[in-house]
Amino acid sequence: LATTSLSSDIAHLTDLQQDALNTLIKEFDVSTEKARSIVKQFEEEMDKGLMRYGATVAMIPSYVTGRPTGQEKGTYLALDLGGTNLRVCQVNLEGNSQVSIRQQKYTVSDALKSSDMRHLCDFIADCVDQFLTEHGSQALDQHYHLGFTFSFPVQQTAINRGNLIQWTKGFCCTGAIGKDVVVMLQDAFHRKHINVTIAALVNDTVGTLMAYAYKDPATFMGVIFGTGTNACYYEKMPRIAKWEGGEVAFDEMVVNMEWGAFDNERRVLPITQYDAKLDRESINPHQQIYEKLISGMYLGEIARNVIVNFIDRNLLFNNFSSPELNKQWTFETAYMSSIEEDETSDLAETQHILESIMMIPSTTLTDRKIVKKICQLVGLRAARISACGLAGIMSHTGNIGEPMVIAIDGSVYEFYPHFAENMRACLVELFGDAVNKVKFALARDGSGLGAGIVAMMAHKAEQKETV
Ligand code: BGC
Ligand code: MG
Repeated sequence: LATTSLSSDIAHLTDLQQDALNTLIKEFDVSTEKARSIVKQFEEEMDKGLMRYGATVAMIPSYVTGRPTGQEKGTYLALDLGGTNLRVCQVNLEGNSQVSIRQQKYTVSDALKSSDMRHLCDFIADCVDQFLTEHGSQALDQHYHLGFTFSFPVQQTAINRGNLIQWTKGFCCTGAIGKDVVVMLQDAFHRKHINVTIAALVNDTVGTLMAYAYKDPATFMGVIFGTGTNACYYEKMPRIAKWEGGEVAFDEMVVNMEWGAFDNERRVLPITQYDAKLDRESINPHQQIYEKLISGMYLGEIARNVIVNFIDRNLLFNNFSSPELNKQWTFETAYMSSIEEDETSDLAETQHILESIMMIPSTTLTDRKIVKKICQLVGLRAARISACGLAGIMSHTGNIGEPMVIAIDGSVYEFYPHFAENMRACLVELFGDAVNKVKFALARDGSGLGAGIVAMMAHKAEQKETV
């Protein structure tokens, strides 16, 4: 079902079109054997990251130890700065795995994403201020503890401290790399007299893991397949060889892998000319190579690169293009989802996207079928390569065959047709029936709740120390 057939099944293709598609199928193929070599490389990179600081796959100790029991109680604030939105949440932990959340979304403009970090922090502080005015307690001296989900690679130095390693996902604010993002945001709260203490700095994968673990303590990994991609999991302390943070109360800690950077050296991933072009033209060339094959920010652009290449070779749209299609980033991953879902006999939805949104003058049914095939190949490869990351963690921890819950969030996982199914099929090729014990759980918008939970855990730990 999931593996690519090695020739295309579209009727009425010219020989040139047939050849081009067959070549494409081969270029995007991730055979079981290929998957195995990617998994093996994953295990090696994980080991390197656990040994020393500064490795390609950073394997960042999150300072989150222990698991939530679901019995915790309290009211905490959470912030979630991810790829597309800023969310401010008030999280009420009610015990018995019950929670209630109030939240508000704010759009982070493109201008802010490339402005000075101080502006971004002022904006975030203003959003928190507005949120508290609307939803906060009436008591003037009310003081909040906040969990800050910051979905970028951060070298953590404490549960609420961490220096930005680099930006990803189209952010490039100045004055932030190498700096402690908590200090910068806390300063903005001070400047604006907002009575909030940042109690925890949390990656979105960690937030997703904690949110689901509050419901189901068997949760072992937190994974994001959204605008960007990343994973975290519970690691045994002795295996985190580089840890210098002293004694911890538990024998395991959540490690934020930052797997988006996997294979920046291009050792094993099947990088095509279409990926190379995307990377070269991106604002972070040579970085986040794995993420660029998988995540929502990039899939549409890979497909666009293929489509434009086919036009240049006179294989599509009778050689016509459009200013829209020629422009970087215009072909959104969401369009690919709609095209893959289009089961109408004349591919009407595909036609709408190509002719009314991308403004291609006209398309034949064969054109539309070729475009659909291109999207399928890009999407299938993404799912299979994603599975290799999960498989890498499973091989590393050696718990294949044990019951395991993987909490997953992100638009690609939630909305991209067949993504979860294709990922699972690849895992079955690698591990067989043992995969039946693995449960994928959608943890929608879990990172806000999870950050609230981590803030609570940090706050409680700090209270214990000062008693
Ligand atoms: C970031 C990660 C984040 C992931 C998913 C990546 O670009 O580096 O920190 O977890 O996106 O949002
Ligand atoms: Mg998010």
